[in-house]
Amino acid sequence: MAITHSTHEAPTQEVALPSALAGINSNVLDDAVLKKLVDPDVYYALAQCRATGVPMDREFANALAKSIREWAQSKGCIGYSHWFSPMRGAIHGEKLETFVGVDFATDRLIIELSGSQLFQTETDGSSFPNGGLRETHQAAAYIGWDTGSPPFVYRQTLYIPSAFVTWNGEALDQKTPLLRADMAVNELSVRLLSLLGDNVTREVVCNVGWEQEFFLIDREKYLARPDLVAAGRTLLGAAPLRGQEMDTNYFSKLSPRVNRYIAEARDMMWELGISIHCTHNEVAPAQHEISPIFGLANLAADTNVLAMDVLRDLAFDHDFTVLFHEKPFAGINGTGKHNNWGLNTDSGVNLFVPGETEEEDRRFIAFVAALLRGVNKHGDLLRCGVSTAGNDHRLGAQEAPPAIITLHLGERLEAHVKAVAEGGGFGGYGTEKKEIEITAPVADVRANLEDRNRTAPFPWCGNRFEFRAVGGNQHIAFPLTMVNAALADSLKHMCDEIDAGKPADQVIRETIQENQGALFSGDGYSDALYEHAEKHGLIHLRSSPEAYEALTADKNLKLMGELGIFNERELAARQSVLQEAYATEIQIEARALLRILRTLIVPAAVGDTNADRESGFQSPLFDEKRKLVERLLSETEMLADAFEAFPHDDTGQAASYAHETLKPRMQSARDAADALETLVDARAWPIPTYSEVLHHHQ
Ligand code: ADP
Ligand code: MG
Repeated sequence: MAITHSTHEAPTQEVALPSALAGINSNVLDDAVLKKLVDPDVYYALAQCRATGVPMDREFANALAKSIREWAQSKGCIGYSHWFSPMRGAIHGEKLETFVGVDFATDRLIIELSGSQLFQTETDGSSFPNGGLRETHQAAAYIGWDTGSPPFVYRQTLYIPSAFVTWNGEALDQKTPLLRADMAVNELSVRLLSLLGDNVTREVVCNVGWEQEFFLIDREKYLARPDLVAAGRTLLGAAPLRGQEMDTNYFSKLSPRVNRYIAEARDMMWELGISIHCTHNEVAPAQHEISPIFGLANLAADTNVLAMDVLRDLAFDHDFTVLFHEKPFAGINGTGKHNNWGLNTDSGVNLFVPGETEEEDRRFIAFVAALLRGVNKHGDLLRCGVSTAGNDHRLGAQEAPPAIITLHLGERLEAHVKAVAEGGGFGGYGTEKKEIEITAPVADVRANLEDRNRTAPFPWCGNRFEFRAVGGNQHIAFPLTMVNAALADSLKHMCDEIDAGKPADQVIRETIQENQGALFSGDGYSDALYEHAEKHGLIHLRSSPEAYEALTADKNLKLMGELGIFNERELAARQSVLQEAYATEIQIEARALLRILRTLIVPAAVGDTNADRESGFQSPLFDEKRKLVERLLSETEMLADAFEAFPHDDTGQAASYAHETLKPRMQSARDAADALETLVDARAWPIPTYSEVLHHHQ
């Protein structure tokens, strides 16, 4: 075809904005809005308070609160609530308070929000999971506005994102430790950069982009399954006739009904300032994903909880139920929440991007070395960060990252880093460009420097790392706190060594040499990983209860204390809360399964075998069903015995019992029930099947 040139003029007419785009940011009180609302001196006072933590002058605080209240009123709010994150998964806490007060001089109602009401409130800390930090007779706890996270309006309420601590200032929430860990990373990164000769950088921030997967099912089906209602996952159910075998769901078109729901959720998130950028169908039937553009870790943690809330609430409006559990259905993919995590400086540098000069590459490799040491020495903390009863179903299974945490750099970067450790130059990596030729008219494609490895728990993605082991139902603040703590400890180690007189280059090289066992760029689903882990003595904590034990190991108590992230009491409390949550969740599951088996499945199966007998026919099918019913009856009794014997004294013991004894019993009872489901009269099966739950709404 001949190539001709034509003069082309850009269209000049104004393009109307779709209403969804016109509404972006309308419900979030970010700094851009705040600056317009308040006097410059009030804004300056807030900025000072944000930087130092020193309370604002009372008059300024009152002026700020008044402006915020008026903004919220203009959005239809009649009240406000602090919005905080107790140690109980991704479920925020709130207590609504109205803008109505009393003027005691006249006894008339007035409309008000004072500065002190905006900045703090007091509550009961003993009824939230607290791991012994608060007893009922010493219950006071305080909630304080996190001025780094903007207030927002959701369904006619003004919400104020907050930290939640005891009367002694100990963390009762997910946010406080993350803020402390962010601060440690900031200080130590700036220190290392300065030791490497950078005198410009004043601040290093940690950025996170989460990817939230979820299942969306019909509310009616959800309500008809007591296991989903009680446990958020199915505790029994035979494989559907059609699962994910043909890969037809992945990135396929959203069905019209699901699309209406997701579009509405996305628009609402945009109004809240959540930068949803991508939505798509996931691998399993009825599974989807949304993700925003990355933001500061603390904000990302808040927006994730808020996004989960929006998804839950809107599902109700659309007659759906959304499931965030890590393994709602056996035999098809579970639900993860990849956390894309990176470091950026106020001088405009992404610390995980290879540089153009030897100096820049040295900086890049220094930070990779610090992270490598963090993963190698503190794999237990990273593992602990993703340890929940739900996530145990995923980790180490053939569809999700393994429970051994390694660092995946990609073959070429790994080779380069190892060469640096042996004395090679820092530069030279990433100078070549990889272009993939397809064929005209498709333009050549610019490829990443490294291949993608979906089997790695912590792969490098060219400008960030992706913590892929995080569970779909988790509050991401805790895993991020663990990553930041592991990194900060290593930054500190490197800084201390350099300060003690070792040349920086030698410190970087030794750090790689000593920790390169944690590098693994192979197939994380293969036995090679286990051989590698064995050979290099990598930490391998197979289950959550095992990981929780490690949390209070001496090295971790020391590290968390030194970095100011958790004191000893806080860390012990965290451990106890995690153990108790694990044990209780599995106990609830066992109770629910037992009830379902006894009151629904056994009667249906016995009724079916009775009908077989009354039919007068004989068949191997009938014999098989009878045998299975016998097995189901004895499995049910064994499960009941195991449930009765649950230990209640010690949280660690309870978690181990749940893992080692109760879970296997639940599995074998389930096996019998699932086998029966494929044989007995389908019309008499008392709960919706996998096929009905996964496929009927699409
Ligand atoms: P995937 O292909 O892995 O599913 P997605 O596009 O769903 O990737 O998500 C990638 C996420 O990584 C997005 O949230 C994106 O904003 C985030 N991200 C990109 N660059 C960085 C960075 N430098 N630091 C942190 N997160 C980042
Ligand atoms: Mg993804």
